[in-house]
Amino acid sequence: MSKPVILTVDDDPEVLNAVERDLRNHFRTDYRVVKSSSGAQALEAVRQLQERGAQVALFLVDERMPQMTGTQFLVEAIKLYPDARRVLLTAYADTETAITAINRIGLDHYLLKPWEPPSERLYPVLDDLLSDWFARARPAFDGIRVAGSALSPASYAVKDFLASNQVPYQWLDMENDATVRELLGGASGFATHLPIVFFPDGATLVQPTARELAEKLGMQTRAQKPFYDLIVVGGGPAGLAAAVYGASEGLRTILVERSAPGGQAGTSSRIENYLGFPGGVSGADLARRAATQARRFGAELITAQEAVALKREDPYRRVTLTDGSELSSYAILIAPGMEVRRLEAEGLDAFVGAGVFYGAALAEAATYRGQDVVIVGGANSAGQGAMFFSRHARKVTMLVRGSHLSDGMSHYLVDRIAEAPNVTVQTNTAVAGARGNGRLETVVVTDTVTGERRELAASAMFIFIGTAPRTALCADLVLRDDQGFILTGRDVMADGQRPSGWTANRDPFPFETSVPGIFCAGDARAGSGKRVASAVGEGSATVSMIHQYLQTV
Ligand SMILES: Cc1cc2nc3c(=O)[nH]c(=O)nc-3n(C[C@H](O)[C@H](O)[C@H](O)COP(=O)(O)OP(=O)(O)OC[C@H]3O[C@@H](n4cnc5c(N)ncnc54)[C@H](O)[C@@H]3O)c2cc1C
Repeated sequence: MSKPVILTVDDDPEVLNAVERDLRNHFRTDYRVVKSSSGAQALEAVRQLQERGAQVALFLVDERMPQMTGTQFLVEAIKLYPDARRVLLTAYADTETAITAINRIGLDHYLLKPWEPPSERLYPVLDDLLSDWFARARPAFDGIRVAGSALSPASYAVKDFLASNQVPYQWLDMENDATVRELLGGASGFATHLPIVFFPDGATLVQPTARELAEKLGMQTRAQKPFYDLIVVGGGPAGLAAAVYGASEGLRTILVERSAPGGQAGTSSRIENYLGFPGGVSGADLARRAATQARRFGAELITAQEAVALKREDPYRRVTLTDGSELSSYAILIAPGMEVRRLEAEGLDAFVGAGVFYGAALAEAATYRGQDVVIVGGANSAGQGAMFFSRHARKVTMLVRGSHLSDGMSHYLVDRIAEAPNVTVQTNTAVAGARGNGRLETVVVTDTVTGERRELAASAMFIFIGTAPRTALCADLVLRDDQGFILTGRDVMADGQRPSGWTANRDPFPFETSVPGIFCAGDARAGSGKRVASAVGEGSATVSMIHQYLQTV
């Protein structure tokens, strides 16, 4: 297969040659650099590349060109190469243009001229974007194939595990593909036990658990050391931040994640308010970067293992995992975040994984391309979900119990939903039931004002009705509030008294629970900010409290 292309466009021959030279110097081993001196010529080149089946990884385009601006070129070019990264070269005065381009074409970066020295101002940005592109666009078919039914919850669980861990796979749908049925027929008796996962080495796994998949994929599922300074429970933004700071500051750190690094943030199609990403960042990208960073500093990340119990055996703290193994340390950070609330409606549970999904289930977008889908909920995550599915589905209907969408949603999302031609919002509407024959076909809804019931045809329903803290594992050990959020710092003191069982000769540190040496950060903590940035801030701030604690044990 030929190398992916970096295409650069500039009407100034001197600048064009300089960009080409710098790009070749750094990227020529892995990429082919193609240059064009106008938008029109570049579009022709893009069409030819597509005809030849070439991959384009990145466009680096001057904004100010006669006839066709860089933004106008990118509008057309990304129709042919939607995954390619987009960078504009601008002068200082063009910052406004760049911001417009972020909104119009999802610009990834704008580089200010001149970019000297390239080792500081050009290569780090492009390396980063190309690694994002590579993570998403590399061909999947030299890897894993998952054969199953789009309507089977077990198939969905396998696809969800692979997708959230960003493992590329080819989906073979036995409902719609005769070749797949033949393939499965060959694997005698298997068809009743879907899905089957085929690995490139010839191995197969039938209805595998997440841990079996993780082990087969070479992910770490067991601790390597007998003892740690810090065990982090949960690999969302709070846990990942603690792992990065803990390991980078010399603590023997292990993070335990039941599913995939990234947590709730990892399921977000685009986080737009995280500092330093003016064009937004997908939750998957953020998770991948954070996990890489934590590992680079020496933290161990074990996945597909749930912490099921925490123990205090002074001065040690212990965590029991699903496979019965035990981790030991001096300190624990609990960062389990939130789990989605279940929707109570007649007949709905039968369709979970067969048309009904909790959360964004981004990997399902392709399955429901061109069909009608329903989004339940009226807050930010529902809005992001609606915008994401509007790019794939024929029609998206948002069902909102309240009278206004804007009650629980950021303004920018309300505006985008209003502008999206295939998204409609039904307010004062609650889900009463779900019907179908083996798959979701009809959603029954009730008008919350008049009580009137009606039916909506829908192939899929994505539910975003809020969350509750996932703190049952430490219910008997640390103090929680009446909603299950974990109390920390001054909140564990009652009338100035330290909590019962408190042995340290000091008050609890900020983020410390009612048990010395056990800390909590992120969404599961009472009073936390419920945002990516606050979870990251809390996770990293906790590490300095942990250092202070470690000096006392
Ligand atoms: C769809 C969606 C979109 C969002 N968009 C934005 C946004 O645009 N901007 C913003 O600022 N915020 C956004 N948020 C909120 C943000 O994602 C959360 O505030 C943030 O992820 C909280 O981080 P956390 O680390 O505390 O918990 P979580 O992200 O919930 O992560 C907790 C992790 O712990 C793991 N875990 C739980 N229990 C255990 C256990 N016992 N053992 C092992 N692992 C365990 C879970 O699997 C999970 O991976 C969004 C949330 C959602 C759901």
